[in-house]
Amino acid sequence: MWVKKETHWWAPLKLGGNLRHSEPVSYCKMWVKKKTPWWAPMKLDYLLLAAHPDDAELYCGGTLIKMREKGYNVGVLDLTRGEAATSGSVQDRDRETQAANEVLQLAFRENLGLPDSGLEDTHDARKLIVDVIREYRVKILIAPLGPCRHPDHTAVYQLARAVSFFSGAGNFPSDHSPWRPLRTLFHLEFRDHTPSFVTDITKQFDQKLEAIEAYSTQFYVGEESEERTVIGSKRFRDMMINRFKYYGNLIGCDYGEPFIVDEILGIDDPLQNLIE
Ligand SMILES: [Zn+2]
Repeated sequence: MWVKKETHWWAPLKLGGNLRHSEPVSYCKMWVKKKTPWWAPMKLDYLLLAAHPDDAELYCGGTLIKMREKGYNVGVLDLTRGEAATSGSVQDRDRETQAANEVLQLAFRENLGLPDSGLEDTHDARKLIVDVIREYRVKILIAPLGPCRHPDHTAVYQLARAVSFFSGAGNFPSDHSPWRPLRTLFHLEFRDHTPSFVTDITKQFDQKLEAIEAYSTQFYVGEESEERTVIGSKRFRDMMINRFKYYGNLIGCDYGEPFIVDEILGIDDPLQNLIE
């Protein structure tokens, strides 16, 4: 797979991972071929589980774009098609997801077609997600931190906890061999929790907004109509922008997206990991 990178022409080239360089004065765009041979199945560095199309963009759009820009394989697994939404049809949502994908440029995005407003942590749902995790050897799984305001989101949280374990269990029924994500991250929605870390999405924020605005039947994009929901109001848009600004300010940048990790994170090299 080909991944677009931006770097100085004189910068040392590192394939398939972080590419650090100082502030660009001038740069040329390079096309870097990842080491993965063409016959090997694609692996995903990140996979976000989302209850509805638009959740990925709203909660983690900046981080997904940023990780893709770093050269990682990033994917989203939408669990439902959003057919129970107050506004817009399934066809609208499919079209809007396509438009958002143009911005996100993900390596993978699929929809399991599970029931919207009826999402539950069932064995069948677990199996569908475990199959994806195993097939794509997902390294980092991302899901909402529950309990959430929307019951479907809470179900994704419960499913994420279950599949994080069962994907590595040898006797769990699946078409693929066992594989457990190396880490599961939980993104924050609109309840207060102290994040384990915040990603700086300042440079990606405009693209994140563009991806959110692709869902014009769901979110405020300039005018409110009678049947607008909470998330379709200007108040929600302002609150959402302020919230990502708040988390960015916590780490000294303009915009940030917050995450929680259950485990204590080990630091091998404080200078490199905490300063640089
Ligand atoms: Zn949702």
